[in-house]
Amino acid sequence: MRILIADDDSNNRTVLQGMLTSYGDCDVVVTGKEAFEAFVLAHEEKQPYDLICLDIMMPVMDGNEALMKMREYEQQQGLTMPSQEAKIVMTTALDHPKDIIKAFYKGGCTAYLTKPITKKALVEQLKDIGVLT
Ligand SMILES: [Mg+2]
Repeated sequence: MRILIADDDSNNRTVLQGMLTSYGDCDVVVTGKEAFEAFVLAHEEKQPYDLICLDIMMPVMDGNEALMKMREYEQQQGLTMPSQEAKIVMTTALDHPKDIIKAFYKGGCTAYLTKPITKKALVEQLKDIGVLT
């Protein structure tokens, strides 16, 4: 499967990539803007991402804005069935509950993980949302 990891912190990127690399091909970007651009490109290549891990706090464009743009793009493309939508997992610090609420109710994210992310929590979450069996 295709995986996109977006985080402005290099340590977080390395950790997530290390945990996910055995499950698919990981692309890594550092801003929400780059994440959205990679997302569109993958659609244009007819190989959309199956899983997107989006950090909420990022420069240029934050994760919540990137999330909303991705969901908008899917709508515009007529990809409105749950099976056609990318699974988008927001990653965030525990002390930002408002960002998480916004991601769920306004952005339509699939799930969220709080940092520091453990492999156990990640794998459990991915099983819950059907990315892993
Ligand atoms: Mg960040």
